[in-house]
Amino acid sequence: MAFELPPLPYAYDALEPVISKETMTFHHDKHHAAYTAKLNEGVEADPKLAGKSIEEIMGMMSQLPPLVRNNGGGYWNHDFFWKIMAPKGSTQPSGKLKEAIDAYGGLDKLKEDFNGKGAGQFGSGWAWVIVDSSGKLKVTSTPNQDNPLMDDAKEPGTPVLGNDVWEHAYYLTYKNDRPGYLKAWWDVVNWDEAGRRYDAAVA
Ligand code: MN
Repeated sequence: MAFELPPLPYAYDALEPVISKETMTFHHDKHHAAYTAKLNEGVEADPKLAGKSIEEIMGMMSQLPPLVRNNGGGYWNHDFFWKIMAPKGSTQPSGKLKEAIDAYGGLDKLKEDFNGKGAGQFGSGWAWVIVDSSGKLKVTSTPNQDNPLMDDAKEPGTPVLGNDVWEHAYYLTYKNDRPGYLKAWWDVVNWDEAGRRYDAAVA
């Protein structure tokens, strides 16, 4: 069965002014659509991937070719990305995730470390907040479309938050100001979804 491009869970302009309608339209309808189509090419070419979930494919990545790595990562990362965003100011950290953030050193420190990882990722990639099975949060980054679920990830874990620092994610609005994009992005975090993912990871 082929992977399908998941619909955005909100309107294209729902995250304005942080993420423009134009950026969201290209990012979802062109970039995510292309990762989906190329992932399907890679899956069709490899019988051992037949019927595997995208998470199962992440767990086999060390044995798979760049076509599946880049586009499978792109497929999972963007599906995650749309879901962990929501209209500006609609949610706030709560529950066990808030406790974990407090244990980390507080939300300001988490943001500072995350923004630092995102700004410091040379070239294209992602910044992440991941959780290990003990519930501890860690801030990391990955190059290209790699993610912490891949079996050969240098810093493995379950993503709770992630931000896309490819230029296609911000250039139309922020031009070369990646730090400005990273700072503004916190206004559209979907803390309810992040909390659900935290709870599932530590359950
Ligand atoms: Mn992207």
